[in-house]
Amino acid sequence: MSTLAIHNPATGALITQLPADNANSVAAKAAQARAAQPLWQAVPLPQRKACIERFAKAVAAELDELAAIMTQETGKPIKMSRNELNGLLGRIDFFLQEVEAQLATETVFSEGGMTEQIEHLPLGLVANISAWNYPWFVGANVFVPALLTGNAVLYKPSEYASLTGLAIARLLHAAGIPQDVFIALVGGGEVGAALQAQNIDGLFFTGSYATGARIAQAMGPRLVKLQLELGGKDPTYVCDDADPQLAAESLADGAMYNSGQSCCSVERIYVHEKIHDAFVAAFMATVAGFKVGDPAAQDTYIGAITRAPQLDVLDAQVLDAKAKGATLLTGGQRLSGPGNWYAPTVFVNVNHSMALMREESFGPIIGIQKVASDEEALRLMNDTRYGLTAGVFTPDEARAKGLLAQLKAGSVYWNCCDRVSPRLPWSGHGDSGVGLTLSTYGIQAFTRPKAWHLRQP
Ligand code: NAD
Repeated sequence: MSTLAIHNPATGALITQLPADNANSVAAKAAQARAAQPLWQAVPLPQRKACIERFAKAVAAELDELAAIMTQETGKPIKMSRNELNGLLGRIDFFLQEVEAQLATETVFSEGGMTEQIEHLPLGLVANISAWNYPWFVGANVFVPALLTGNAVLYKPSEYASLTGLAIARLLHAAGIPQDVFIALVGGGEVGAALQAQNIDGLFFTGSYATGARIAQAMGPRLVKLQLELGGKDPTYVCDDADPQLAAESLADGAMYNSGQSCCSVERIYVHEKIHDAFVAAFMATVAGFKVGDPAAQDTYIGAITRAPQLDVLDAQVLDAKAKGATLLTGGQRLSGPGNWYAPTVFVNVNHSMALMREESFGPIIGIQKVASDEEALRLMNDTRYGLTAGVFTPDEARAKGLLAQLKAGSVYWNCCDRVSPRLPWSGHGDSGVGLTLSTYGIQAFTRPKAWHLRQP
């Protein structure tokens, strides 16, 4: 049997070797889950909800240990691991509160002996291929509503968050979800690829554009529901009437939180020339206060880079920006020592000829570009193939809303950034993906409507 080596990205040390799946075991597990799904669908909703309630209680009870596992395998600062788990509990509450109404059969017409109804059925067997950067959030956005609505789930955590994936499976099973209704698969891209070949009713993917596009190509002829939540190059514009200090503090956090490894990290900043210098000074002061170090330490803000290959991407963006005339204010290099480390990096005098302003960085690095007008900011913000989030800082609500209405993005922010709410749909335009999770739409995503035309005799 092959194994998957799990390393601590902060030290490079081997944590453990896990038995890994292969094409045969994936096929066997898919058959098991397929057979188990109708029985789970037949379990009354209150009992399905009770399982998820017990799961949430178990997560809360083990929160410190689960946070430590996530920090060890991803390099995420421990405070942020705890934040993610606490945030997860709120998301689960939302799904628990909303699922009943979303599954209720609707009578949409009744007249003259004719009744029309919509029934909401589970998709059946869904596969979830997940990312490592927020493994609890992005996993639970899929498996919680999928299980609540009566689906069976084949869950492939990222190879960089497999211990977390196995912890999720253990807690779900202990909470009463049958072993065959939620099955975790261990392995890398080849296990994800093997999943695509199975008899599944939906594939829900979170990860990079490159992998998402590959999956879309492979799945094309299968005609299976496909959702892709992909990367971004999320911009924010700071208007001339914004408070530069408040905007800088918020945006430095938005750019560097989780070492910049968030799908909705602030990846580009445009600042009106009138306040550009004040903003940059405040931004640099905020970044200087970010403690880089051991992810397990309580006061660490910048932890390790989870995937070693990302260091090459960051190096290349730095080289390219320097070669094209950008000014490096801090960082711009790897940090020495074992493990994967990158210094918080800030560039000014950047432009859209640079990869730094065009391609997802996914690290603690940011370019700040000076603009002369709202029109210029708007043009630059929309000059992207991505469209996950975008934001504007200004005290003027009408100005903000006027700008935000013209931005191509799934989520827009006024005076905030890097924010996800369970009550709102999470989706991307363009190369940021297709489909959505969260909100009531993110419950319906795991159901298929069946139309009933009923004529009384
Ligand atoms: P990735 O694309 O490298 O991997 C994602 C998953 O796909 C992993 O589980 C991996 O094993 C699997 N995979 C790799 N090759 C595959 C193949 N050929 N077939 C099937 N599965 C395959 O992405 P990552 O590094 O895990 O995550 C980072 C990316 O995810 C970033 O681009 C980030 O922006 C994005 N992301 C998006 C969201 C969102 O909600 N839009 C959320 C989190 C992360």
